[in-house]
Amino acid sequence: GDVVSRIAAGEVIERPAAVVKELIENSLDAQSKTISVEIKDGGLASIRVTDDGEGMSRADAPHAFERHATSKLRSDQDLWSIRSMGFRGEALPSIASVSNVRLVTAMQSDSVGTELQMRGGAAPQILDASPIVGTRIEVTDLFHNQPARKKFLKSVPTESSHITRVVQQAALAWPGVHFKLICNGQETLNYPAVAMDRDRIGQVYPRFLLDQTVLVEAGQPGARITGVIVDPNHAKASRTPQELFVNRRPVRNAAVAHAMVEGYGSFLPKGQQPQFVIFLEIDPDRVDVNVHPSKREVRFAEQEAIHQLVRRAVRQALSRSEP
Ligand code: ADP
Ligand code: MG
Repeated sequence: GDVVSRIAAGEVIERPAAVVKELIENSLDAQSKTISVEIKDGGLASIRVTDDGEGMSRADAPHAFERHATSKLRSDQDLWSIRSMGFRGEALPSIASVSNVRLVTAMQSDSVGTELQMRGGAAPQILDASPIVGTRIEVTDLFHNQPARKKFLKSVPTESSHITRVVQQAALAWPGVHFKLICNGQETLNYPAVAMDRDRIGQVYPRFLLDQTVLVEAGQPGARITGVIVDPNHAKASRTPQELFVNRRPVRNAAVAHAMVEGYGSFLPKGQQPQFVIFLEIDPDRVDVNVHPSKREVRFAEQEAIHQLVRRAVRQALSRSEP
């Protein structure tokens, strides 16, 4: 690809896990019910994401790789107010500019599917494929034209664990979707679709849920908190999840972390960290997602109100769990 797209790619696609994240988000946008991620050597050799979503037509598929062509030109805020997770039409072009991509896709109405092959960011080659509804995207030779980026990458186990985290976080946010992760031919995650957040939390953190957690649930106008936290008096957990989702996106937020500790108060034994899987649903107009390019960090318009909500919800949950 051209230099501009490669530079842009560097900001969005910093490691294999970022590719996986973007591909999963596209599969979610396509209303998939099952998303399967297969990686080889931590995604450095290959990444393959297969979904059973809407697929793309022969006419649309090539446009998916044109920068901004597909973008419905949504604002960042719009991105947070609707289910759509898209990166404004940048993810696929960015990925294609730093790897080789093979895409196979078909829609329900198609009698023949479409295969696209892209090498070195060149125009795609278009072939017929079997009409299996959904999309499969294979990314190989990631960063082959970016030796500096490649050098920066860590070991296969490290990259694999980043990918595992990405799949787990997507799974926590979308319990109604079946997620699978296969590493070098071995299935390492398999979370069949479930109805409730709690069920999914149990799949992702099986030991965490058993008899140690209490439900958190509270709301106020424009904001709602749900999820589970560990009651330290019952906890013997070795895993220490600290998962915060705002409007179903994994984020970090210092105010929430702080409120969590305050909510625990004297419930938290010295030297222990709060353990939680928490979902905040907040009016998207009241969330600033442009704190960091990765959108991993958020700021709230009503910081103090959110702080209070979290603190109160955690305190209430823990006092309820007292014998
Ligand atoms: P964005 O998600 O911001 O639109 P992307 O570059 O991630 O940009 O994807 C470009 C477009 O390609 C999407 O808008 C969508 O139309 C199409 N697309 C990508 N992946 C899939 C998929 N798994 N299923 C159906 N359509 C897809
Ligand atoms: Mg996208």
